[in-house]
Amino acid sequence: MMHSMGADPRCDACQAPVVTGPEGGYVCGQCWHLVEPPGYEEQRAKGLARARAKREARTAARRAAQQHS
Ligand SMILES: [Zn+2]
Repeated sequence: MMHSMGADPRCDACQAPVVTGPEGGYVCGQCWHLVEPPGYEEQRAKGLARARAKREARTAARRAAQQHS
């Protein structure tokens, strides 16, 4: 009997059965091959951009405060 694709997720690297997370990513229990969920890179990039903007705003505020004292 053939398995249908998607119903039985397997590791890309070693073909061991894997359990995918809610967002579609998994870490293989056999070889530790890591697959990140779709959109993960994009979300991480957004998060980094947000953190950088926050840090820059804080730096600018501190600089402005020093100039006024
Ligand atoms: Zn594997």
